[in-house]
Amino acid sequence: MDKLILSVATTGSRTSREQTPHVPITPEEIADQAIACYAEGAAIVHIHVRDDNGVVTCDPARYARVAEIVRERGCPIIVNMSTGGNAGLMSDEDRMAPVRLSPEIASFDAGSINFGDGVFVNSPSFLNTLAERMDEFGVKPEIECFDTGMIENAKRLIDRGLLKPPFWFQFVLGVRGGAPASASQLVHMVNQLPPESHWSVCAIGRAQLPMNMLAIAMGGHARTGLEDNIYYSYRVLAEGNAPLVARVARIAHEADRELATPDEVRELLGIERR
Ligand code: ZN
Repeated sequence: MDKLILSVATTGSRTSREQTPHVPITPEEIADQAIACYAEGAAIVHIHVRDDNGVVTCDPARYARVAEIVRERGCPIIVNMSTGGNAGLMSDEDRMAPVRLSPEIASFDAGSINFGDGVFVNSPSFLNTLAERMDEFGVKPEIECFDTGMIENAKRLIDRGLLKPPFWFQFVLGVRGGAPASASQLVHMVNQLPPESHWSVCAIGRAQLPMNMLAIAMGGHARTGLEDNIYYSYRVLAEGNAPLVARVARIAHEADRELATPDEVRELLGIERR
């Protein structure tokens, strides 16, 4: 098995201070927690940024600020910038803004789904343009799949040369409107992957930890963090992202899966260090 790539999604587009006082909102807070998570074993930090009111934005200056603080403080963690935006409320062009910063990784949501009470639209034309833009700026797409059909969407883009190997898939399970967070669903999705793929899984709420444990056992990779789940255990809030990372790292250690360093992830995924 490859070494375990542990990602942390610190903030998300929706997790609010009303839900948990521990979610990092400002660029400084996000960078602080990213650095703390690196210390606990995370190799990739997946970030969304917020405006002064805590509302999600794709403001490149805010994304750049997070990356800048992380680098200034000597932390080698890979920064993965979201292109998710705010479903339905932002233009495609706004959502793609962080790609121009040439992050090492950016998210690539490989299709449209109902998402909670809303609709998360990722049209074919948006995906074509996003794939081209990422290629132009040397960004590795994290191909987020919320359901099995999105793997097929990705394969079509692969066939047309718009996505290039090695492929980095993130299965996002348990979203209301997407595929369930179950072992059989995960196995099914893994079985649909094209050659030269690496995969990771994250899951919403209480499914987060069991899905991370399955990934450890199956040879996949794992994402944790407050974007997907704010609890450490039943009714107990996680006191930031680092405790969630530390727990997955401990379990991986017990299972004899070493953690990949950021440079080892760059090597495996073919990412050039910025
Ligand atoms: Zn995200």
